Order: sequence, then structure tokens, then C-alpha cells
Amino acid sequence: MQYIFNFAATNFTRMTSIPQAKDLEKLLSQGLKTIIISHFNPDGDAIGSSVGMRGYLQGTGRQATVAVPSRKPEFLDFLDPDGEILCYAENKQATLDAVNGAELIICLDFNRLDRTEWLAESIEASQATKVLIDHHLHPDTDKFDLVISDPGASSTCELLYRVLMSFSSVGSDPSRLGLDTLTAITTGILTDTNNFNNSITPDTFAIASDILRQGVDFDAINNLVFKRYSESRMRLMGHLLTDSMEIDRPLKASSMVITLKDRHDFNFSDGDSEGFVNLPLMIRDVEVSALFSETAEYVRVSLRSKGHVSVNALSNAYFNGGGHERAAGGRLYMPISQVRDYFLRSLEQFLQINGNPTAESER
Ligand code: 5GP
Ligand code: MN
Repeated sequence: MQYIFNFAATNFTRMTSIPQAKDLEKLLSQGLKTIIISHFNPDGDAIGSSVGMRGYLQGTGRQATVAVPSRKPEFLDFLDPDGEILCYAENKQATLDAVNGAELIICLDFNRLDRTEWLAESIEASQATKVLIDHHLHPDTDKFDLVISDPGASSTCELLYRVLMSFSSVGSDPSRLGLDTLTAITTGILTDTNNFNNSITPDTFAIASDILRQGVDFDAINNLVFKRYSESRMRLMGHLLTDSMEIDRPLKASSMVITLKDRHDFNFSDGDSEGFVNLPLMIRDVEVSALFSETAEYVRVSLRSKGHVSVNALSNAYFNGGGHERAAGGRLYMPISQVRDYFLRSLEQFLQINGNPTAESER
């Protein structure tokens, strides 16, 4: 069963029902031992879609384990109040046992198994039925039995909502999902669109409207997601903007660097830099923004664009990663002191090869 639907190509047809949903619903009804897995450095969409999927299953009397390769950021704790999400980095054996013991593996919010890091080998070797629901470009379809992919969706949560609405047992009635599941789905939509700022479609708002009508508290989610900075996180943001941000005018590019020293000085914890890379895009002449975070093993790369530069292609070509046209990530294996220079040289070369689209990007 291999299907890929690019609903973006349908030019915003409203909330098209998902044809493969029937196959998925049948699969879920078989009562298989199920694990839901999302990507390394899980974000709001990864955790939201996983908890949302589990919520749907629990609502129909079934169970599923949620597992992630590395820790989720603290601000998402409200989606896992009982600490039930298994994390490989914290609990290696239990997580591997759960993957190896599963009869059904549901992968959410990533396109290639290597995004699950240390879990990839076990997933690949497993005889379980494997499902992928995702909104990244170019999913690795060969590795799955059923693929539901829509790179036109704002988020995996938006796509998951459409999948669940297409189930005959749900019958397009969001009240059948329950507030917890809808809250998890809303979280992923809010975080991946950066509060309805990017990748939005008419469906995004239609879905948000339907969810809001169910009584989900958007204000509360907004406060939990966007308004719970620690003081040190706020100060790190100030430090980056004041002391680290460098703008290259000809390339219309910004770069910021978080060093290991910054991590120590600002008591940095996972997820503390979430959203920072978007800030320089608020500057009129900045079209591409890069944030580099030094870790002991590599430099984590975050890329954003507001013009026509595909940071997915840029990351594929120069930063060992990928993502979406306007939001991508990757890794560099070089001293932190060299990354800015490497970034500017790479971007310059990329624009030479692909043409410099910023000239015509009137926005
Ligand atoms: P972020 O900058 O928020 O970490 O990631 C932005 C987007 O790029 C997300 O959609 C994420 O899935 C993707 N991404 C982040 N890091 C990587 C990576 O190392 N490899 C790939 N292929 N995608 C990444
Ligand atoms: Mn996502």
C-alpha cells in the first residue's frame, strides 16, 4: 500500500478526505501492539501528533506507547503530564524493547528513518507493519507499508486531523476525538506554523475553527507554548540578538551562534532556542536566517527563509539535513569558529548555482 498525496497540488481544495484513511482505520482496528514514534529533538508537532494519535486510540479502547529518540523540551510537559512518553536517551533498553515488541509502528512527523537516530536500526529490522504520516518533502516510501504524506500541510498535526476526520468511526465529527486529543493536535499546528505565521493554508484555519468550536482553549495553549520563557532563555535571546547576530547585506542573510559557553552561562536546556532563528527574519532585508548551536559532538543547524530561497535544498546540499522549503535543519562537523564563514560561502555558492531569487521576491 503506497500512496502519496500532495494536497498542495490540488490548490487548496477544502479539507479533502484522505483516501488511505480507510486502510489505516482497518489496520488500527486489528488490535496490534502499537508504538508511535517521532523524530530526534521532538518539537510541538512531533509530540502533539504522537499524543493526538495515542489519544484517538485510547478513545476507542486501544492502547499505544509513544516513544522518541531524545528528550522533549520542557514547555511540552503539559502534553505528557504523567511522563508516559518513552525517551531513548533516558531509558534505552525499555525504548528498544518497546520498538522490538511492536506489531504496528506508526511514524509521525519525519520523512526518513535516520531522523529517529538510535531507533532507526530497530525500526528498519522490525517485522511490524509500518505506517508513516508526515508533511516533509520526499518521504522514504520504501521503508513503510502505508504512507500518508502531504508536504502541503502546515503540520503533521493538521494532516493527522484530516486523517482522523476521514475515519468512518469519527465521521467528520471532531467531538468524537475529545479535548485532550484536540489540544495535542492544536499544539502541533500552533508550533509548526509559528502561531499561524507560516505554511498556513485555508485548511489550517478551517481546522482551527472547528477545533475552537469544540471548546479547546487556544489562549491557554498559547500561554503554555509561547509565554513560559525562563529568565535565562529570555536573556539568551537578548544576548544572541545583541552580541551574536551578524547580517550579510549582499546575501540578505543573518547568522547567530550559540556556543558551549553560552549553554553554560545561560543554563541552556533542550528547546531553549526554539523560535530564535525566526527573529532575524523580522528585519526588512534579511531573507535567510541561520542559527548554529554547538554541542559536544556536532554543530546543530537551524535555517529559515522568508523569500524564495529553499532552505530544504540549501540544507540538503551543505548542511547534512533537510526539512521544508522555509524551515530546515541539519548538522555540521567543524569547529564552531568556522561555521559562519562556511554558511556565507555555501549560501553564496547556492545562490550562484540556483540563481539569486531575492531580487524578484517582492513581499
Ligand atoms: P528546526 O530548525 O526547528 O530544528 O527544524 C526545522 C525543520 O527541519 C523541521 O521540520 C525538522 O524536521 C527539519 N530538520 C531539523 N533538523 C534536521 C536534520 O538534521 N535532518 C533533516 N532531514 N531535517 C531536519
Ligand atoms: Mn512538523
